[in-house]
Amino acid sequence: MIKTTHVTIQCPQCGYTDFEQPENVQDDDFVKCVFCGHQIMLCDLKEAGIEQAKEILIPEAKKEIEEMLKNTLKGTFK
Ligand SMILES: [Zn+2]
Repeated sequence: MIKTTHVTIQCPQCGYTDFEQPENVQDDDFVKCVFCGHQIMLCDLKEAGIEQAKEILIPEAKKEIEEMLKNTLKGTFK
């Protein structure tokens, strides 16, 4: 299982979180989803993980940002 600090990276194809990976996996090595067999380079998988982390973190921060925007852009933000 490949993890970022807070978020488990999901397979971009099927959402599974277990990947076959070589020992001492490098960014340009391919890892393989054990569920659907999708192969992806580790650096691309990490990038996908960052995007996934954003999607998880954004809703949490969104309320705060909306409040901030309401205060700065009064009336224009719904
Ligand atoms: Zn998969």
